[in-house]
Amino acid sequence: MIDLHLHTNASDGRYPPSELVARARAAGITTLSVTDHDTTAGLDEAASAADRTGMTFVPGIEITAVWRRKDVHVLGYYFDARCADLQAFLARQRLDRIRRFREMVVKVAALGLPVDPLNIDAIVEQAERRSHQSLGRPQLADALVAAGYVATRKDAFDRYLGDQCAAFVPRSGASPEDVVRIIAGAGGISSFAHPGLLARDELIEPMVGAGLHALEAYHSKHTPEVVDRYLRLAARYGLAVSGGSDFHGDEPGEFNVLGGVALPAPAFDGFRSRAARAVRPS
Ligand code: AMP
Ligand code: FE
Ligand code: FE
Ligand code: ZN
Repeated sequence: MIDLHLHTNASDGRYPPSELVARARAAGITTLSVTDHDTTAGLDEAASAADRTGMTFVPGIEITAVWRRKDVHVLGYYFDARCADLQAFLARQRLDRIRRFREMVVKVAALGLPVDPLNIDAIVEQAERRSHQSLGRPQLADALVAAGYVATRKDAFDRYLGDQCAAFVPRSGASPEDVVRIIAGAGGISSFAHPGLLARDELIEPMVGAGLHALEAYHSKHTPEVVDRYLRLAARYGLAVSGGSDFHGDEPGEFNVLGGVALPAPAFDGFRSRAARAVRPS
């Protein structure tokens, strides 16, 4: 089974990279990519763990771009994680995440849900100290769960942190086209993450113009009709197809489960040959 969309605790996933790899293997996954939000911090550990058990590992990332105040997730694969321009960009993304995290802490407190400032400082300090770990709403959701205000991450998003909710803080950031170019600049290929969740297909054309390589047609939250729609759109634009579970951990009420969605092998072959053809910067 092939899963090209997985998260570790280098961003908002539950498990450390080696534990994620072990769990993926137990679920029958043989080829995997770790795609943490705006960080490559989990890749080395995941790659070693995959190597030790004979799994195929693809370096990955999920970068948050912004378009008309909406978040657009762009996946990158097969890039060189040592690329200085890429790492400088990611460091700026993570700093903005910390800024936003602190603003959301202030907002939830104003809503009558104060979170222990020492606890918040510890979370931020740990991310800062390890500077490569990226913070997001899920970690704030965890703090709200720990404080007893909500039962689950999902509750926290439904009531406070979702895009339409009172404690939401919009982010600033690069456009989807810029992110596609940044990934290409590091020698990688890009895929428009879970386009069915965003439902802004008008973004595909400009992203293709910037050099987009693939659409993530297969995803835990895509219905069969949505999968078909993006398979057709990929064919129309001459794009490859990627896919994965977008597993973050065994959350209550979560249906992004390990082994729940796989990228069919022929699609992976097409995806891989796209990567082989991508022009590498010298
Ligand atoms: P952020 O990086 O701060 O924009 O947070 C986005 C992340 O929150 C996504 O990558 C998901 O992992 C997670 N997320 C989004 N919506 C929900 C939800 N309804 N319940 C739980 N987690 C969610
Ligand atoms: Fe996430
Ligand atoms: Fe995403
Ligand atoms: Zn994801």
